[in-house]
Amino acid sequence: MDYQALADLLFPHLKYTREYYEEKYPKRVLKEKAMVTRFAPSPTGFIHMGSLYASFVSYVFANQTDGIFYLRIEDTDQKREVEHGVEQIISDLKKEDISFDEGPGIGGAYGPYIQSERKEIYEAFVYDLMKRGYAYPAFETKEELDDLREKQEQQKQRLGYYGVYATARNLTYEEIKKHLEQKDPYVIRLKSNGKFEDKFTFKDCIKGKIELPSNDMDIVLLKQDGLPTYHFAHVVDDYLMGTTHVVRGDEWLSSVPVHLQLFRLLGVKAPKYAHIAPLTKKEGTRIRKLSKRYDKECSMSFYQEEGIPTNAIKIYLATLLNTSFEDYYLSDRQARISNFSFTWNKMSVGGSLFDLTKLQFLSKTYLSRLSAEQLYEEILPFYQTHDNFFYKMITREKEYTLRVLNVERTGKKPRKDFATYQDIKKHTWYMYDTYYYEDDTIKRAEIKESYDKKLVQHYFEKVYDENDTKDIWYEKLKEFISQYDYAKTVKEYLQKPGEYIGHVGDFCEMIRVYLFCSLETPDIYELLQILSKERILKRLNHIN
Ligand code: GLU
Repeated sequence: MDYQALADLLFPHLKYTREYYEEKYPKRVLKEKAMVTRFAPSPTGFIHMGSLYASFVSYVFANQTDGIFYLRIEDTDQKREVEHGVEQIISDLKKEDISFDEGPGIGGAYGPYIQSERKEIYEAFVYDLMKRGYAYPAFETKEELDDLREKQEQQKQRLGYYGVYATARNLTYEEIKKHLEQKDPYVIRLKSNGKFEDKFTFKDCIKGKIELPSNDMDIVLLKQDGLPTYHFAHVVDDYLMGTTHVVRGDEWLSSVPVHLQLFRLLGVKAPKYAHIAPLTKKEGTRIRKLSKRYDKECSMSFYQEEGIPTNAIKIYLATLLNTSFEDYYLSDRQARISNFSFTWNKMSVGGSLFDLTKLQFLSKTYLSRLSAEQLYEEILPFYQTHDNFFYKMITREKEYTLRVLNVERTGKKPRKDFATYQDIKKHTWYMYDTYYYEDDTIKRAEIKESYDKKLVQHYFEKVYDENDTKDIWYEKLKEFISQYDYAKTVKEYLQKPGEYIGHVGDFCEMIRVYLFCSLETPDIYELLQILSKERILKRLNHIN
């Protein structure tokens, strides 16, 4: 077969050759060891935790090496196309604070970054393979391929289009020409030179040395619609776009022999591959893949609704990436993802357990480290969209809100009861009179029959002095209650329970429930200071 003639027959209108594109997209000039990574989703829209994790990994490695992180849309499977999918992906990732150096609508010298706009480029590369005898057209119908599969199943042969079963390999130039004249649909296949019996080894950045059979399948390079398959498209793109590291899900691991074979046949250096294990979830004793369909924590809207900070999600993903990040983060208030050196070999090989409780724990730590001002700025956009009433109130009463947010924030052990932005209102609403007096929809701690409102009122009227320091305030409070048969300490109470009505904790509980409608609050002293004596007395008077 004269393959040059065959290539010319199949691509009579080819505008540019491979060499043209190689010149158009020169090698990137970057620092030594700089990584060029990409996120390459199909445009089905929505980002979920699994895809966010994959893009986060690529983003982190590019950033820490002063490299490039770009977005490429893999839309060669046109059935899966979703309108606005691309904008959705970019905007979802922006919300998670992940940005691209290059991509559709962003720019960059290696575009277009949407595969369906790169048809001519793929053709130029197929043309190149074909003229050198590594690609050919195949005209089998779906039925014929189904028959082949059935025959192979019956004969207990390996399934697929290879070796003796790759019958289109034997078509003559004349036969091909005739098919084309009849406008018979066809695909272009790779003419594989691999042998299944031969072992193929490569080193994966995460999984280490892998051994698989060599590829002997004549896989499809261009489909009937003229668009490339994933296998071929990513090889051409990652080559021309200068990708140094392909980070992708490990469902692709078994295809690596095909991919590396394609790079070799094109005579170019292959990127390194890093196959990430899936995020998993524990269900009873079973561990399974985190599912887009069944697990709420897989969808990004869950985090947006709950108000889980983007930074907390990233901190959690960083701990999944390298578990040692967690110790570093927890031990250093100034810890930053950008200051940590992540390595491939510390990544999980088998699967990373996604643990929402852990994420919430890290989120508490993250929120506890913010200053009141920073926290205030972070919660504003959340409440603007989720609770406009609260948003307006905290905007109007900014100074007061800053004081409320500052409660137990500046000491050695800052409060850690906020895991989400929602928790802010949940744990501070009682500091605002609007909610205290007017909102009966909020659940309040029950006023027990044993409570003594008169005693509490008496204390605030006669003893409580706003100008007392915390120590003096506490001493005076204990002194006061001891006159009314409350033990100054729990210990005293436990020693002679019969002699007391209760202890200091019981007295403080009454204050908490009367004034803050809650059994658990942060430091009462600080709350009372913010509330002011005048408002304290007003609240107590209001209670029946
Ligand atoms: N489009 C492929 C996917 O969504 C991307 C794999 C890759 O990153 O190369 O699985």
